[in-house]
Parts: sequence; C-alpha cells; structure tokens
Amino acid sequence: MAGDYLMDEMQPSPVESLTKILSDKGSMSVADYMALSLTAAGVGYYKNGNPIGAKGDFVTAPEVSQIFGELIGIWVMIVWEGMGCPQNFILAELGPGRGTLMQDVMRATRAKPAFRQAARVHLVETSVTLREAQGKALRSLCRPEWHESFTALPEAPLIIVANEFFDALPTEQFVYHGGSWYKRVLTLDDNNRPIFAAGRLEVPPVEILPDNMPNEGDILEFCPAAVDLIGEIGRRAKNAPCAILITDYGYDGRDYGDTLQAVSAHNYVDPIQPPGTVDLSTHVNFAELRIAAQDAGLTPSRVMPQSEYLMSLGLEPRLRRLMADADEEQRAALFLGARRLVDPFQMGSLFKAMAITSTHLPLPPPFSVESRAIQ
Ligand code: SAH
Repeated sequence: MAGDYLMDEMQPSPVESLTKILSDKGSMSVADYMALSLTAAGVGYYKNGNPIGAKGDFVTAPEVSQIFGELIGIWVMIVWEGMGCPQNFILAELGPGRGTLMQDVMRATRAKPAFRQAARVHLVETSVTLREAQGKALRSLCRPEWHESFTALPEAPLIIVANEFFDALPTEQFVYHGGSWYKRVLTLDDNNRPIFAAGRLEVPPVEILPDNMPNEGDILEFCPAAVDLIGEIGRRAKNAPCAILITDYGYDGRDYGDTLQAVSAHNYVDPIQPPGTVDLSTHVNFAELRIAAQDAGLTPSRVMPQSEYLMSLGLEPRLRRLMADADEEQRAALFLGARRLVDPFQMGSLFKAMAITSTHLPLPPPFSVESRAIQ
C-alpha cells in the first residue's frame, strides 16, 4: 500500500539521511516522505520496534478498552449474517498493531460457533515485530495468515476491519501559491535544511476541491493509496460480498488544511524528522473515502463520531456487565477506558467510523445509507 518510492539501492541507513536523500533527489512529495519514513525496508517507523502502548509513542482505542474490540466483534457477526452466513469467509484486519482488537473480536464471537468455524483470519501487516505480537495475542483463538499488502488477500467473501490504518497511508499535499496549485514537496533550503515547499504545478483531483476559492498558502490533501484500496474492494465485490469498517481520526467534508502530524512518546513534534524516527500520519478524509466507494460501485455509510457508533452498538450495557464482575480498582479502570473512547474531548468526536459494503448487502447497524448529496 505504501508508495513505491524506495528501491533497495536507495535505502538510507536509519535515522541520519533525510538531508542526504534530498540532496541526491532534489525533492520528494509528502506521500513519498511518509512512505519512506513509515514503511521503507530497513528504515520505516513501522518496520522497527513496537510503537503502540503506554511505553511506545501512541495509544489506540483497542488498547484503551476491551469494549472497543468486543463491540466490533458484534458488528462483524451482524455483517456475516447479512451476507447470508457464508460457510467460508475471510475476516481481515489491516494494520492490527499488537493484535488486541482481533483478540477482542475473536473472544466476543465465541458466542457464535458457526461464525468462528467459517472465519479465516488474515492480517495485513508490514512490521515483523508486530506480526510476532499479533501471533502471540491470537495464539489460543485462531491461526492467522499474514500478508504484506491488501492485494495479496485470497478472493472470498470478505469482512475487513481497520482501526488507525488509513491515517498511516501516504498522503499527497497540494499547496495554493500565486493563483496556482502545486504539489507540496520536501526540499532543502539555501542552508541545506529540509523544508516544505511548492513543487511542480499540479491541480488536485477535482472531486476533493472545496466549493470556496482557496487563499494563498492553503493546502489540500489526497490519499491515493486509500482510493486504490477501496477500488480493489470494489473489484473484489463483483465476485463475492465485501464489507469494511474504517475507524480512525479524521474529518468529513471537502476542506483546506494541513493535517500532517508527527507523534513521538505521546507528544506532537515537527513532522520533518529523520526517516523512521516518528509516527507520521494525516487525518483521514472520510469524504474522499465516500467518493472512492461510490466510484468503485460500493455503498458507503454515513460517517459517525466514535461516541455515537460505540454507544449505538451497546457500550453502556457492556460496561455495566463488565463492572458487575470486577473489583473496585478494575471498575475504575473499565469506566475510565470506556469514557475515554466516547468523551468528545478525548476520542469520542475526532475519531469516526464508516462502513463500506457491496451494494446488495444490507448496510449493517448502526449505520444508515448515506443519502446526502456529496458536499
Ligand atoms: N490497528 C492497531 C494499530 C494501529 S497503528 C490498533 O488500533 O492498535 C498502524 C498499524 O498499521 C500498525 O500495525 C502498522 O505496522 C500497520 N501499517 C502501517 N502502514 C502499513 C502498510 N502500508 N501496510 C501494512 N501495514 C501497515
């Protein structure tokens, strides 16, 4: 999925070499910079170490509360039933991190042995370290198969979950300067320091252009890897039913803005860093995903804030049930975790959920069909 910017002979040694690459190449686009920094062999942030958790750089929803994965477990069972309970289907996760979400999904689905029997778990993961963690987390629950890229998944009825995966896909930026659009690039300034600048003239894809005119310096973002991935789901949906649940931080609307961010040890830092040393991401543009889904002949759901999504799936009764069996310390931890997921000042509103399904499938709860015209 990540850009194919790096060929082996171009592999820099870890950490030092952004200036060196830029002095060799002149410039690189933001998407190429993200691909280099996140997933390039030998260098990429996601190739090395274990970035997730209190001791890592960031914490994700499944790590905050088991309820997140359990409710998604209920969601995948409903989707499977909507598909007519295929006897053999692929339950895939994109970027499974430490394997916690799939572990909770598999625990929650124990209640339905026919589902468990029919599910073949496939994980799309680029990191060897994280693959090991996923294998351990799932050891007693299933025997997953791993793939480097989504396109390698076998053809079959497909239910996919992806939490905080799309934000890591390489995203292009365009900058409006002097009345024209340019591809935004990283290049070196006169003192040989890496800076962002306007690259070659290039108009962003029309479908993401906002209605209002841009101002000098405005930035637009476009994630070609996300569009390709959804296009591939559309292709597969012609032969077998498909559904994907995308949960991530992002926005729903055609807006100008620079959302490229870098996180290290739970703090935001300057996005220009030695390749592989920080978590680079952009906010997911759900409007772009919706358009990609429609173009691919799929049905996009409306975009729900995480709070609404999880509450509609039954977060509160599940929390009450867990708390009833817990001691006082556990009760406090369960409550704080659940609150963090849905509190609008924490993860409840910036994080969102969207489903995309084959057109003939019923759109699963709690979504309803997107009936608004595309903004
Ligand atoms: N879903 C997990 C982890 C999110 S972090 C959670 O919620 O905790 C992003 C995950 O995607 C990591 O597992 C990372 O290694 C993986 N990843 C990032 N870019 C990838 C790519 N291009 N191909 C495959 N896996 C990728």
